Amino acid sequence: MTIKRILPFILAVIMLISVTSCQKKPEAVDEPETPSEETTEPVEAVEPEPEPVEEPKYKPYQFDESKLVEYNGTVEHIFFHQIVAWPEMAFDGDTYEKGIDDWMCTADEFVKIMDELYAKGYILVDIRDVWSEYEDSNGNPFMMRNTLRIPEGRIPFVMSYDDISVYEYMPANGFMERLIIGDDGELWCKGIGPDGKEVIAQGLDIITLTDKYIKEHPDFSLNGAKACLSLTGYAGILGYDTNQDSRGTAYYDVDHRAAEIEAVKPIIEKLKETGWYFGSHTWGHIRLDKRNVEQVKADTERWFQDVGACVGETPILFYPHGARPDGKDVDQTGPVFKYLHSQGFRYFFSVGTNSFSKIKTDISAVVGDRLHPDGTTLRWARKTYLPFYDAKDIYDDRRPDYGNSWDK
Ligand SMILES: [Zn+2]
Repeated sequence: MTIKRILPFILAVIMLISVTSCQKKPEAVDEPETPSEETTEPVEAVEPEPEPVEEPKYKPYQFDESKLVEYNGTVEHIFFHQIVAWPEMAFDGDTYEKGIDDWMCTADEFVKIMDELYAKGYILVDIRDVWSEYEDSNGNPFMMRNTLRIPEGRIPFVMSYDDISVYEYMPANGFMERLIIGDDGELWCKGIGPDGKEVIAQGLDIITLTDKYIKEHPDFSLNGAKACLSLTGYAGILGYDTNQDSRGTAYYDVDHRAAEIEAVKPIIEKLKETGWYFGSHTWGHIRLDKRNVEQVKADTERWFQDVGACVGETPILFYPHGARPDGKDVDQTGPVFKYLHSQGFRYFFSVGTNSFSKIKTDISAVVGDRLHPDGTTLRWARKTYLPFYDAKDIYDDRRPDYGNSWDK
């Protein structure tokens, strides 16, 4: 068939299509609504509502995978205690003032530190992504450093928050009291302010303040990582009376404790959903260098009963007072260390002047140190912390005048 012979046929087809499209009824935008006849139709004919797609509750920042680079340098590790919400209550000259000044930061200082870390390119990572346990060909477990993939130029760091219980002195000395779930389904914190009135806020305790900070700076966190909450057991957890007793005294009413455990469950769930994870700080905040295996065993069992039963198992242990098991854990693996390892602990962290870490070769574990932004280091270790921030820029003037060594 030549083109000449099919041309009239093609034209005819085109014309037919045009006519058909012209005849197509225009969309009846302005047609008045007709009385519904659909009401008489059987129910089955009604289109079912599509199932609502459940939005993920917590969406970590999505980095461009193709732009991530391998990082094999030091992963920094800093830890905080609970932050001071009201310096005027904390620094009022009473017997608690010095301890709070030594070991805590104020909410303002915490935000300034985060701002400095963010500006310097630090990126928060989960400690479980830094090291993991693997098995060799004989089935023997060993810890290994993973190769982190992070945005170019960034420096990974881990955060842990110690003693996230509410110790007895705290509510009257400038700290918030307990986490709660607000009507909006989000975490809030409750406390009593300086005027004696109840305060429900986000940003006056270290947990909701961190949540808020990462919400405002989502690329500060890799895969949505938050901090590891290092918990003792003797004074409950997160402001709830989950403990059976307080170091042998003041037994709580059984029903009260059961109600507190129920109340803290959704808080723990919410924390886990939003990037938080948990570590042990021993039940009684005990010195692991001065206790024998029997004593450590009794304490660990209490931790599992009072804390582990609420937050689940954890491979992470933070030494109270920075005191290493058996007095030494880096060059030796003593009986206390071995016992703790037998209970599932693999990450053992102390306190030091840098983010030291070492993978042990005789047992599957990583041991290390953490830096501690607080009053002692703001005053007396400015130089050590200069890679992170300058204490001069962070220091809250509402602290008492205990001096400093900034210019020495
Ligand atoms: Zn502690």
